[in-house]
Amino acid sequence: MSLGLSIGRAARDAVRVQAGAGFAVATAGAKLWGRMLGGSFRKHGELTVVSDLPKWAFGRGGTCVGGVVLSNRELNDTVLEHEDVHRKQWRRYGLLFIPMYFAAGIDPLQNRFEIEADLVKGGYVKAR
Ligand SMILES: [Zn+2]
Repeated sequence: MSLGLSIGRAARDAVRVQAGAGFAVATAGAKLWGRMLGGSFRKHGELTVVSDLPKWAFGRGGTCVGGVVLSNRELNDTVLEHEDVHRKQWRRYGLLFIPMYFAAGIDPLQNRFEIEADLVKGGYVKAR
């Protein structure tokens, strides 16, 4: 194996470790946030859904932070499918997902992470 290959592999491993650690930190933080604010917890597949939160405690209709979705209301399965894509994005990028998400643009219709998660399922665009 060449040195270049092993450096490449080490870099890839480092990125994976960062993403895994970042995902765990984000998930733990979001659960703590949800508990502090008295949210209701339930599991939906691999997502932890925290509802009944005050409106100021998250962004838009709901916010996915690590493996946790924060919202003030019950989210339907379609929206949760959308949020589950965000969970996978968090898994892939770890804490780097935060600057990457904002760099992709505040407008959800232009944001590649929202587009990947499906704009219709996320409620950003009406189904035709
Ligand atoms: Zn979304």
